[in-house]
Amino acid sequence: MRKRIALDMDEVVANVLPKFLDAYELTFGQRLQRADYWGKKVYDIPGAEHLREVLRDKGFFRDLPLMENSQEVVQELHEHYDIFFTTAAMEFRNSLEDKYDWLRDHFPFISWKNFVFCGDKSILRADYMIDDHPRNLVAFQGKGLLFTASHNTDENRFTRVNDWLEVRDFFRQERGL
Ligand SMILES: [Mg+2]
Repeated sequence: MRKRIALDMDEVVANVLPKFLDAYELTFGQRLQRADYWGKKVYDIPGAEHLREVLRDKGFFRDLPLMENSQEVVQELHEHYDIFFTTAAMEFRNSLEDKYDWLRDHFPFISWKNFVFCGDKSILRADYMIDDHPRNLVAFQGKGLLFTASHNTDENRFTRVNDWLEVRDFFRQERGL
């Protein structure tokens, strides 16, 4: 039986950071540099808490850029594993349709049957999970891979992958290549 990979969307295949940098610049008239937000979320910067509200906007999740190399590596993984896109989509009701359309556009080779839009990811069971939030990996019973994001740089409990080429290499090693 093929092994299953539970694959997060935001900050793993979909890059939300540029739109937060845009929102910050629109509000404060200044483009944040990496050192300004590295180690936290953009909306954890004092005074910028309200920027999290952009997540409610219809369309926010519809045109997010892909994370570099994610399409090609997911395509390769798809040949060897069952890929499930597992994404928290309940807090922001508009995100549901946007995320669905985005996945159809960018990952047409993954069936809609493999979309799992959920609230609490602790309900998930798979062999591997790739996620940027430690809380999701803590609750997961399979092998968790922490995808590096600005807010998880201090975390050291999980196998870390910094980009999609490292994801590719990890799974090649798992297959003994
Ligand atoms: Mg995420």
